[in-house]
Amino acid sequence: MGFNDIIGQRVIVESLRNAVKSNMISNGYIFSGPKGCGKKLMAFIFAMALNCSGKANDKPCGGCSSCIRTSSGNHPNLELVKPIGQSIKIKQVRGIISDSARKPFERGYKIIIIDNADKMTIEAQDAFLKTLEEPPENTVFLILTESHSLLLPTIVSRCQVYRFKPVDSLEMKAFIKSKYDYPEMDVEAAVRHSKGIVGRALELLRDKGSFKARALYIDILEKALTGNGNDAILLASEAIEDKESAESFLEFSLSWFRDIMVLGESRGACDNLIINADSLEVLSRHNSFLTEAKLNSIMEIINKTYRYIKHNVGIKNSIDGMLFNIAEVNSYNG
Ligand SMILES: [Zn+2]
Repeated sequence: MGFNDIIGQRVIVESLRNAVKSNMISNGYIFSGPKGCGKKLMAFIFAMALNCSGKANDKPCGGCSSCIRTSSGNHPNLELVKPIGQSIKIKQVRGIISDSARKPFERGYKIIIIDNADKMTIEAQDAFLKTLEEPPENTVFLILTESHSLLLPTIVSRCQVYRFKPVDSLEMKAFIKSKYDYPEMDVEAAVRHSKGIVGRALELLRDKGSFKARALYIDILEKALTGNGNDAILLASEAIEDKESAESFLEFSLSWFRDIMVLGESRGACDNLIINADSLEVLSRHNSFLTEAKLNSIMEIINKTYRYIKHNVGIKNSIDGMLFNIAEVNSYNG
């Protein structure tokens, strides 16, 4: 395992490589980006590089005892902190502080990775800030968060912030094909749905259920669009159980109607822009009876539902209302 195992994120990799080469190491680094973009992998590889005892110039070597123990999470100088339940509590942060005040067990850096750092309570962040203000020698904090804007600005200003970028889809496809043996069509669909996030594409591929869920989502929309609002609602009650599945259904629905719009505008000239390219036939059929005005109303309905769900308005009522409204929109003439 080494920096070459990371795809995309070239700027970050170069910068961290140079930091190790020139031995210019900061006390705090923030890796910011959505779930699945490779923050934790980057943190572990950087941690390996920081304590690598191999002779190679390009660290980490991946083969020395320090690298091996770091990559498996068993290095005594490495600590991984993550939320217990919903949050990272002040007690945990106090633990980190007293640990970091002690000398590293072995030569090299003591590395503390804080995963989902934005889940630190305000008290926890305040306590952590004090440590960052007077950081113990040879301690490096790697702070992983979906968005650094969720951390205290005073924490952010004391760290080097690296924002992870979406990965180019061709690069991602090549990477997945070189490492795994999934059918071409599945890789294509997963990459298109991943929005540039490698972990999301891999999760889609691993979880055959998610392809099954998509088939069910298409059925639900089909029912609503053909005016069978009640059938759509019944099917939805099977597929949507919680906030997470509701959001996944809404994200899918947005991608579905976006595809229909693209299809209408491009008249088949831009099929490579279609996200749900494996369902082109159904998309074309839906495109044939949805006018632009209807599509706009439907998008509005879905976006409104998305906002409801985000604000924890009743999930079942919101989804039922949405399907009912979509059935209604399509029954109008014009
Ligand atoms: Zn090594």
